[in-house]
Amino acid sequence: MKTSIATVSISGNLPEKLEAIAAAGFDGIEIFEQDFIAHDGNPREVGDLIRSMGLDITLFQPFRDFEGLPEPLRAKAFDRAERKFDLMQDLGTDLVLICSSCHPDALGGIDRAAADFHDLGDRAAKRGLRVGFEALAWGKHVNDHRDAWEVVRRADHANVGLILDSFHTLARKIDPETIRRIPGDKIFFVQLADAPLIDMDLLYWSRHFRNMPGEGDLAVTDFMKAVMATGYSGPISLEIFNDQFRGGQPRSIAKDGYRALIALMDDVRREEPSTVSGLPQMPARLDVEGVAFVEFAARAEEAETLEDLLRTLGFQHSGNHISKRLSLWTQGDIRIVVNRETTGFASSSYVTHGMSVCDIGISVNDATQAVSRAKHLGATPFEQATGPGELNIPAIRGLSGSVVHFIDEASGLNDVWSVEFNNIQGKATSAGLYRIDHLAQTMSYDEMLSWSLFYTTLFQMQKSPMFDVVDPDGLVRSQALETLDGSFRITLNGAETHRTMAGHFLADSFGASVQHIAFATDDIFKTSSALVELGFKPLPMSDNYYADLDARFDLAPGLLDSLKAGSILYDEDADGAFLQLYSRPYGGGMFFEIVERRGNYRGYGAPNAPFRIAAQKRLMRPKGMPRI
Ligand code: MG
Ligand code: MG
Repeated sequence: MKTSIATVSISGNLPEKLEAIAAAGFDGIEIFEQDFIAHDGNPREVGDLIRSMGLDITLFQPFRDFEGLPEPLRAKAFDRAERKFDLMQDLGTDLVLICSSCHPDALGGIDRAAADFHDLGDRAAKRGLRVGFEALAWGKHVNDHRDAWEVVRRADHANVGLILDSFHTLARKIDPETIRRIPGDKIFFVQLADAPLIDMDLLYWSRHFRNMPGEGDLAVTDFMKAVMATGYSGPISLEIFNDQFRGGQPRSIAKDGYRALIALMDDVRREEPSTVSGLPQMPARLDVEGVAFVEFAARAEEAETLEDLLRTLGFQHSGNHISKRLSLWTQGDIRIVVNRETTGFASSSYVTHGMSVCDIGISVNDATQAVSRAKHLGATPFEQATGPGELNIPAIRGLSGSVVHFIDEASGLNDVWSVEFNNIQGKATSAGLYRIDHLAQTMSYDEMLSWSLFYTTLFQMQKSPMFDVVDPDGLVRSQALETLDGSFRITLNGAETHRTMAGHFLADSFGASVQHIAFATDDIFKTSSALVELGFKPLPMSDNYYADLDARFDLAPGLLDSLKAGSILYDEDADGAFLQLYSRPYGGGMFFEIVERRGNYRGYGAPNAPFRIAAQKRLMRPKGMPRI
């Protein structure tokens, strides 16, 4: 299996694109003609540059408005093709993509187009070149891969083949199963793109909103299964036109592409094993059992503030690390580590972001396999020197410099708490918090797709639809990722302006990621009373909020008063109810949340978010005031 990506998918100038594509691990590129023209270097130099980076030129694209033209336009189109054949030979590539014509004078008729392609095939054959025909979803006469295949079939020329593009097939809701009937050796090239389902003009949708396989809503796996079933053995190439990616970081976009492509082909192989060859074996997506620990990098007074807050939340200081300045705080199955080290990863994280979550431990069925799968998908393993008696816990670099550790029972890694920490015998405390319900990560809107791809390619998780959270100063996009059984839930919050609470946190912490941690309780009223005893101060909610709750829901007698008394937020849907309680913000805008899920409520209290954010902002420093 040969991986490839179109240069148009990545931002930057041609050398920057190539460097990012090579670093991500691709085998080749489709050279998008505009990228070549914009570059100052002759075709031979460009070809040599590409090959010197270990990349092949898998395709030259696009050649437009070729077939079906009347004379004299037809002769001109052939002349133009000859010029591009010269260029291809200088660049060192043998395949050109010809997309179906949108020319106003192009005439219809499968036979007319087939005859044009037969003649072009003769000309290409003389130079040892090949031509591939792609049906654009908005082509004037050919806009369906079945018609493009019929043109190729009737052209009946060894140097003429079909090019498939998942977007053009799936955007027009053409059944990808129809691809299975095409002989694999007549498919010359395959382009892959996903896209979010949006009802809009096909051309506009395609040029601005394509994204990496798995980032959108199209049935790209079914498409690839059908392609591979034909015996196709050519390159599998990403062709992604996306406004965000054009402005993104070349290296991270290329890495996302590689991750998406490998994960997709692994999915295809799992369903139809005999059709995919040359893809290294890798473990399947991991089952996540939950969050094993959350580690904060903190120092001095900030660390004290955090630990005081944990104490008022019912956490117990239950251990200290045998050799490092790490304190362990526990309640139920929840473990919070406060790291005060002045060397190592946590320390550099503190220097960059201030007090922040620097590390997340995820409980999986097999930690070694988790690292192995992540590495196959292009992740970088993370290693830090371990002291005597310390366990080497498998870890990888997440995105934006973060670290994710994997912990499992089978390998004894779960024992790290008794092996590496001295137990402190103290009075057991608890406010009834027993596990982490969800972690909420904040990022710039541009990074949301990368993070969701990171989690969904590594773990068995599903995405919920994206929705907008209204902050008084702007919108925040939010999306939840969760395991089927709810054992692991992450909410991704994408901020577009620093004036929102999320955006402010992001700017203030220079891109820290976890903004809040939500703990689960079975009885929020009991928890709330216990917290009052411990001196916890909840986020106060406005009377207006409770008046509205009363109007919206048919609450049981006395419930509204109890909610109000405890500053507890409430939501319900057809499946159940959700009760929430927030801490006041601490650090640069982090906070804790306590939730009780009743019945089968699967959401996150989205209707309450605008009022919670407004309440938090009332307690934070005035707008525009810098951190001292
Ligand atoms: Mg295409
Ligand atoms: Mg939450």
